[in-house]
Amino acid sequence: MSPKTITEISQQFSIEAIAVLMDKGQITQAREILSRRIIDVPDDYKARLLLRDSFLKMKPAATPTGFKSCPCCNNSFPFFLPGGPSFRPNACCPACESLERHRSLCLILKRLLHLNTKEASMIHVAPEQSLSTILRQLFEDRYYTMDLFTDADIRGDLCEMPFGTDSIDIFMANHVLEHIKDDLRAMREIYRILKPQGSALLQIPIDLSLAVTEEAPEKAPPQDLLKLFGQEDHVRQYGTDFKDRLEQSGFTVRTHICHDIITPDEIKTYGLHSDEIVWEAFKS
Ligand SMILES: [Zn+2]
Repeated sequence: MSPKTITEISQQFSIEAIAVLMDKGQITQAREILSRRIIDVPDDYKARLLLRDSFLKMKPAATPTGFKSCPCCNNSFPFFLPGGPSFRPNACCPACESLERHRSLCLILKRLLHLNTKEASMIHVAPEQSLSTILRQLFEDRYYTMDLFTDADIRGDLCEMPFGTDSIDIFMANHVLEHIKDDLRAMREIYRILKPQGSALLQIPIDLSLAVTEEAPEKAPPQDLLKLFGQEDHVRQYGTDFKDRLEQSGFTVRTHICHDIITPDEIKTYGLHSDEIVWEAFKS
C-alpha cells in the first residue's frame, strides 16, 4: 500500500470503526491505519490510546528483531510515536508515553549502582508518570512526588520545600529549573534538604555551544520566551556554566552522558539521544 493510500484510508475510518477491526482480529490492518493517522495527526489522542491497546493486547512472546524497547515500562513496539512539543518522530513510547530523555534517565539510573534504593529516601519533583511508576517500585514508601500545580504526594515550591535540613537521600527534577526565576535559590534549597553525601539527579535543556547561560529579559511576555528559548514558560537557556551554578550552590558535580554508558545498539533500540546528559550533584 502506498503511504498516500494508507492516509486516505485512515481518514475514512472513525476510531470506532478501527476498534471494530481490532475486535474482529484484524490487528495488523488496524495498526497500519492507526500508525498513519498518528503520523498525519500526531495529537490524535484517541488514535494513540487505541494503538497502545492493540500493542499491549497482542504482545509477542519474544521481542522481534528491529523492535524498539522502552526501559521505563518494559514493552516493545515496531516504532515509537511522534512526541514532544514539535511532535518529533520516533520519540514517544506508545504504552507509558516516555520520551527519549525519560528512557535515558531510566537506563542511567538502573546503572548507577551506588544508588542505595533499599534504604534511601527520594523526592521527585514534577514527576513524570513513566519514571514515577518504576521509582515507586524501587524506593517503595521512601519515594515522594512533589509538585506546585498538579497532583502529587506533596504540594510544594522548589524554592521553599517542606522538608527538614539534611533529611533526604536523593532528589530528582527533570526539565524543571529552566522554568524557575531564581534557579540559584532552588539549587541552594535542594542542597539544604539533602543529607551529607546525598545527591540530586537533574536534567535540563542545554545548549552546549553556549558558554554563559542566557536569562530572559525582565517581564518578557510568553511570546518572547517562546521565540528566545523555544517554550513560553522557559525563563533561560542554560549553557555549559550550568555546572558552575551547581558548584556555586555547594555541590560537587558529576555528569553522566548517554553515549558513555549506553552502547550504540542500545541507543537505537531504546530510542535515545546519544548526547543526553544527567547531572548528578553531590552534597559534600
Ligand atoms: Zn514505555
